[in-house]
Amino acid sequence: MTASARLLIVGPQGSGKGTQGVRIAETFGIPVVSTGDIFRANIKGGTELGQKVTAILDRGDLVPDELTGEIVRDRLAQDDAANGFLLDGYPRNTAQVGHLEEFLAGRGESLDAVILLDVPRDESISRLSLRAIEQGRSDDTEDAIAHRLDIYERETAPIIDVYSEKGIVDRIDGVGSLDEITERIVAALDARGLRVAV
Ligand code: ADP
Repeated sequence: MTASARLLIVGPQGSGKGTQGVRIAETFGIPVVSTGDIFRANIKGGTELGQKVTAILDRGDLVPDELTGEIVRDRLAQDDAANGFLLDGYPRNTAQVGHLEEFLAGRGESLDAVILLDVPRDESISRLSLRAIEQGRSDDTEDAIAHRLDIYERETAPIIDVYSEKGIVDRIDGVGSLDEITERIVAALDARGLRVAV
């Protein structure tokens, strides 16, 4: 049996949203759609898209909405996303929220829940410093990190208000062990009637 859940995970850089997103998607049997991962795979593969976005990612800037939206729509149109998906990194500003809502409405769908991972700024910065050493991501330089956190606060945090008005935000304490945090998220989704398939 497959569970159907249309989810978005949001949190500042270093909140662990990538890691928890993968765990939750596995639990529900749905694909993760991570715009950052899609861009990085294209950069690595040297595709035309990759060449277009390399400098943007390295600076920590946002890729233009139109281009990002097209990539997400293509990805969500694939068969494996028909019964659900977990979005990580998109939407990232209120314009992208509008695009996504319109696209989903065209399919008779909407998001079921928005998981907001709450992590204090000093905790996320120390996690990012560790990630910079472990993964060597080219946008984990001090300047790019600070820039991305600023964009998060200015452009991404406001999307939480939009979704809060719809009553679909679950604020989750993102400090604790990986398993504890996954359990908190699963419990919050369960309380919404989004049950893991057995
Ligand atoms: P982080 O959350 O640590 O910044 P992501 O993997 O989510 O990492 O994103 C990495 C980069 O990919 C962003 O800094 C941005 O350049 C680009 N990107 C990802 N998602 C989007 C989006 N929805 N809109 C525009 N640019 C995006």
